[in-house]
Amino acid sequence: MLIDTYGRVATDLRVSLTDRCNLRCTYCMPEEGLQWLAKPDLLTDDEIVRLVGIAVTSLGVEEVRFTGGEPLLRPGLPGIVARVAALEPRPQTSLTTNGIGLGRIARALKDAGLDRVNVSLDTLRPDVFKALTRRDRHKDVLEGLRAAREAGLTPVKVNTVLMPGLNADEAPDLLAWAIEHGYELRFIEQMPLDAQHGWKREGMVTAGDILAALRTRFALAPEGAEERGSAPAERWIVDGGPHTVGVIASVTRPFCSACDRTRLTADGQVRTCLFAREETDLRAALRSEAPDEEIARLWRQAMWGKKAGAGLDDPSFVQPDRPMSAIGG
Ligand code: SAM
Ligand code: SF4
Repeated sequence: MLIDTYGRVATDLRVSLTDRCNLRCTYCMPEEGLQWLAKPDLLTDDEIVRLVGIAVTSLGVEEVRFTGGEPLLRPGLPGIVARVAALEPRPQTSLTTNGIGLGRIARALKDAGLDRVNVSLDTLRPDVFKALTRRDRHKDVLEGLRAAREAGLTPVKVNTVLMPGLNADEAPDLLAWAIEHGYELRFIEQMPLDAQHGWKREGMVTAGDILAALRTRFALAPEGAEERGSAPAERWIVDGGPHTVGVIASVTRPFCSACDRTRLTADGQVRTCLFAREETDLRAALRSEAPDEEIARLWRQAMWGKKAGAGLDDPSFVQPDRPMSAIGG
């Protein structure tokens, strides 16, 4: 098991497949993009499958989520999904994507063994989408969402970050739209993980703001703690059900004590937390021909050192060097 000194057990693995992206969301990266990882530094498909295999067969990982950067930019994605879905015991598989290109590949991903997707969409307005992502691709994301639902990659979840002055007024419209189209909406509080270090606590839209805005149009009742488990989203039953809405309040209501995550970057570093400043280099171990047991030992050791919390409220908090897109969100 991947257990830490606080007794938490990591069963949910986030794998970043690339740090590259075809959007430039303002809360994530600068307009000019970032210095991407060099190809030889990226894990190969075989290396990814070997590490995920160790996590699933020896370390108790039960869920594998592919992310990035934009994971749909990774060539050979369906092949990676198929090999991971063929592991014993079979892990749950999912993907977090900006949805561009999903229209073309959703069916192939489903056939390869992908269970679910989360598609990021912050606005219903094409002009606001362009301002937020610096690209004119709103239509492609809507197409991707539709294709995911039709391919059965369900429940299709929609991740939304609200930004003041841009889309902060859209919360109720987004929820009405998500209910109408059969998507499960989750708002994510903006976190200090952008490469430009532009995050300001005073400037962010909080979970409290989001819930207040939703309540102007909907009745929200909290879902029981049992249903939440270790899930980061606090879920609310909308207008008596069956629809729900989630709010991931990583900043104002952190859920670190229930965290069950471990992360692997596209260049093979284990991270215990999005906000961790330490990494453990599994790529070096892989490439020096370490046996599986040694890699499992390094991974366990990394998780044993996981901190109690992200420490956002600690005056000594320092944003990690790698931005979210390079860690794998
Ligand atoms: N490119 C894919 C996407 O956008 O879904 C996957 C990677 S992205 C880093 C994963 C999620 O992180 C997205 O839902 C995105 O909106 C969210 N995200 C990115 N930067 C964030 C930030 N500073 N605070 C909160 N969420 C952020
Ligand atoms: Fe790309 Fe996702 Fe970051 Fe937007 S949030 S720039 S889509 S990695």
